[in-house]
Amino acid sequence: MKRTYACPHCNAVLNPNVKIVLRARLKKRTGLFLFSPKPGNYDVFVPQGFGLEKGHRVEFACPVCGADLTSSKGKNWAEILFSSSSGARGSVIFSKIYGSHATCFITEEKVRWYGEDARECTNFWGAGPDRDQ
Ligand SMILES: [Zn+2]
Repeated sequence: MKRTYACPHCNAVLNPNVKIVLRARLKKRTGLFLFSPKPGNYDVFVPQGFGLEKGHRVEFACPVCGADLTSSKGKNWAEILFSSSSGARGSVIFSKIYGSHATCFITEEKVRWYGEDARECTNFWGAGPDRDQ
């Protein structure tokens, strides 16, 4: 299934090719991070020398309009839009903490969780994870 990810502010497609491209900022450093569009795959390409360590909170922004992608669900979360070839659409919320593996897909019908750290975000909605695997 093909998923398309978009900026919630300017609607620019964030995965024009294969990887999702986001602008990242850690302290005074900025760069482009590449993410897998496959839920549950946390391989991320980080620019060499970025100095990223587990537990760092990275601020993400749209590479097109520069808008902050912080989720209304909390400052440790970023949020982008998705739509899939099967017709599902909604938002994806993922942890901004490097090394924390939690991603939530929210559509009108359901919340779907990915990643072994997904339980961390259960309290935002007061419901347990509806795991896909
Ligand atoms: Zn944008």
